[in-house]
Formats: sequence, structure tokens, C-alpha cells
Amino acid sequence: MPNIKEIFSTTLAVITGTAMYILLNWIPIIGPLIVGFIAGFIAKGSVKRRFLSGVLSAIIGFVILLLFVFSKWGLNNILLLWIILLWNLTGIVFAGIGSILGSMISSTADMMSKFRRFDSSIHQYTGKTIRFNICPNCGISNPTDAVYCTSCGAAIVVRNDGGRYS
Ligand SMILES: [Zn+2]
Repeated sequence: MPNIKEIFSTTLAVITGTAMYILLNWIPIIGPLIVGFIAGFIAKGSVKRRFLSGVLSAIIGFVILLLFVFSKWGLNNILLLWIILLWNLTGIVFAGIGSILGSMISSTADMMSKFRRFDSSIHQYTGKTIRFNICPNCGISNPTDAVYCTSCGAAIVVRNDGGRYS
């Protein structure tokens, strides 16, 4: 079952992709490749979902262009009709390829940010274990849970930010 975040990102990916396809479809190969890449990057979830977002963007974009632009060009010209069909079929294929590339880059970026979070949590953890309370009287290091200095017995006031004497 897809969650809300996946549904939202897929919808956003298809809307963005469709708009971009309408604008970029005249650029051969690179245009639909960019469209697919962006759609695949935005759509969260499985590679299949990202791929479909890219392909769907190109198909919806093509249908909109067919209805509002190409239909005015006189599609009774068979040669022109074939060029338009082949051009957009190629566009849909390259949007699919672009979406797989976009999904790979997006997944790698997600993985790296997860790793960074993991890395910083380790730092926080080790930070806690080496933190001591410095005795205001004799200056010796005490464990964080110490109320009185282990060396001279003076009271240690622990501050809220987790560490040292005040
Ligand atoms: Zn002390």
C-alpha cells in the first residue's frame, strides 16, 4: 500500500513532468530525458513507481499536445502524422530511461542523507560518553550523574544542557 507521501510525490512528479514535456518535447532525446529524470527524481518509492511517473508524464504531455497543438497542424497529412507519432513515441521511451536515471540519483541522495544522519547520531553518542562534570572546587572530572565531587566532595551543579558545573 503506498503511503500519503508516495501518492503526493507521484502526483507532483507527473504534474511537473507533464508540464515539462509540453515545454521540452521539441528537443530531441535530451528534452524527454530531462523530463523523465525530473519526474523520476521527484516521485518517491519504488523504481517501478518512478519509471511510471516518467512515462506517464510523457504520455499525458503528448495527449495534451495532440489535442491542443498537433490537431491544428492538419493531421490528414500522413507523413506529418507519422513524424509526430514517432517523435513522441521516442520521447516517451527516453522519458522512461530518464526516470530510471533520476530514480537512481534520488535513491543515492536519500541513502547518503540517511548515512549522514546515522553518522551524526554516532557522534552524539560518543559525545555523551566522554562528557564529564568538572568540579568547581578542585577541577577534577566527574561522571555526568555525580552530585558530589568524587575527589573533594564539593557539590556539583549540573546545568540543563547536559554537562558542566555552573
Ligand atoms: Zn572536587
